[in-house]
Amino acid sequence: MIIGSHVSYGRDGLLGSAVEAISYGANTFMFYTGAPQNTIRKPIDMETTKEALKLMQENNIDINSVICHAPYIINLANNKDLSKYEFSINFLKNEIARCEMLGVKWLVLHPGSSVGIEKKDALNNIINALNQVINKDTRVMVLLETMAGKGTELGSSLEEIKYIIDGIEYKDKIGVCLDTCHLNDAGYDLELFDQFLDNFEQIIGISYIKCMHVNDSKNEIASHKDRHANIGFGTLGFDKIWKIINNKRLEGIPKILETPYIGNDDNDKERIYPPYKFEIEMLKNNVFNENLLDDIRKFYKN
Ligand code: FE
Ligand code: FE
Ligand code: ZN
Repeated sequence: MIIGSHVSYGRDGLLGSAVEAISYGANTFMFYTGAPQNTIRKPIDMETTKEALKLMQENNIDINSVICHAPYIINLANNKDLSKYEFSINFLKNEIARCEMLGVKWLVLHPGSSVGIEKKDALNNIINALNQVINKDTRVMVLLETMAGKGTELGSSLEEIKYIIDGIEYKDKIGVCLDTCHLNDAGYDLELFDQFLDNFEQIIGISYIKCMHVNDSKNEIASHKDRHANIGFGTLGFDKIWKIINNKRLEGIPKILETPYIGNDDNDKERIYPPYKFEIEMLKNNVFNENLLDDIRKFYKN
């Protein structure tokens, strides 16, 4: 199983990400090329990048399964403010260039939010933007993430994702990233995951799935909320998630945890302890640990 988590990028760029992923016992990871919520980006340092690639090789992390995630604030769907739309397009072009420099092949992207314009127009804006960004020489595949459908978010139905893919000129450079929390919140029943995959095969085609975000959900099916829970501590539950990530039809696809950090107690607003080392272990061993949160606190406090 190729499994890892979201990691930070920070001062050393990819090197920091790799060190963090290794500390979790992961064999892949997902990173943002800067803060996920802003678009401030530093130039890539090739020296530390080379070091990172060497370290990854020594620790069984294949660069071909490492994922980059574009920042949330890129919105390719809305062109009411043309300068913002163009900013998003340009940022994405640069993000792809950064991935190419790092040797990263996969870039996860939230399709966008329509905010005040017709859904059809918004979807067409996404297509138009992606066709400006993806050309025949692009060496990165853009993975559209399935969304929870919070607010005016697009991409919460397979039909919308399919509509976007249909409009893309270079279809070998577009794929899909499934997010288990988002699928649940969007209204897909993951209890019947094989049926979901049949449905996906019919509408889009399973071969488009290149990455999976593995999250439990704090909310009921079809809640359209998008609040991730730790594995086994949400409405999906440990067994369902274990079955999903071990489904043979998605074998070899990187599975990435984006579950919340843990606070000093359950109500602590300040969440400081990463859960990933423990969640990865749990999923690898197929044993749910109901004391997970306390075990994480103990581990990091010492
Ligand atoms: Fe995402
Ligand atoms: Fe996600
Ligand atoms: Zn989410």
